[in-house]
Amino acid sequence: MRVSLVSFDIDGTLEIGDPPGVVPVALVRVAKELGYLIGSCSDRPISYQEDMWAQLSIAPDFTVLKHRLEDVRARFAAAAYYHIGDTETDERYAVAAGFRFLKADPEAHRAWRMELFGC
Ligand SMILES: [Mg+2]
Repeated sequence: MRVSLVSFDIDGTLEIGDPPGVVPVALVRVAKELGYLIGSCSDRPISYQEDMWAQLSIAPDFTVLKHRLEDVRARFAAAAYYHIGDTETDERYAVAAGFRFLKADPEAHRAWRMELFGC
């Protein structure tokens, strides 16, 4: 099982969040092309998350509330689990659920982007 799973926070993380974050939607598309399992993990309601993905024409593998990240881990078998977010809350939930936390700030983003996405 070599597939990676990447969870994206929305606000303060994705460029379309409120506030906008450093992670371009194009990177989510790269993740899909690489065959990664992707989805959102946010305080935004599930219906909001589903609408967001629909508007982007991206089919997510999951949409969960922030405190349900461990459900994602239980639901999908993956070689590695990542959560990309901008706050300490993201980090806390990610670590508690057995995810590696990737900080959505400009400097950290450059490093993990190459490591995970090769671009
Ligand atoms: Mg956020």
